[in-house]
Amino acid sequence: MVKFSVSTESRVCFRDITAEINQYVKNSGIQSGVCCIFIPHTTAAVTVNERADPDVVKDIITTLSKLIPLEDSYSHYEGNSAAHAKSSIIGASEMLPVENGQLVLGTWQAVFLCEFDGPRRRNVLLKLI
Ligand code: ZN
Repeated sequence: MVKFSVSTESRVCFRDITAEINQYVKNSGIQSGVCCIFIPHTTAAVTVNERADPDVVKDIITTLSKLIPLEDSYSHYEGNSAAHAKSSIIGASEMLPVENGQLVLGTWQAVFLCEFDGPRRRNVLLKLI
């Protein structure tokens, strides 16, 4: 298991973590296998989507905010229920193939840590098999 941490810069943002993950995959020496990416937080998540046009991430964030408003008739005492709900919808893990010592991704794809209650420091766990 490998752990690294990243800083997020705003309350809701997506941070591209593809390069960091590929560095750990390379260092592991594994040429072919799978990489499980796990985010051990309840108000963050991980997803794979387009990095070529930053408006895609912007539109995903806008769509999630329409589906799950920041303020509603929530019960949770911390006041961050929207962040918890978004985290569960996107999910805490991704399982990606590894070939030739790196993640297999489509031309336009990247791995994003999704921050829903930042800014703060977030951990990313990797398990290479
Ligand atoms: Zn909470």
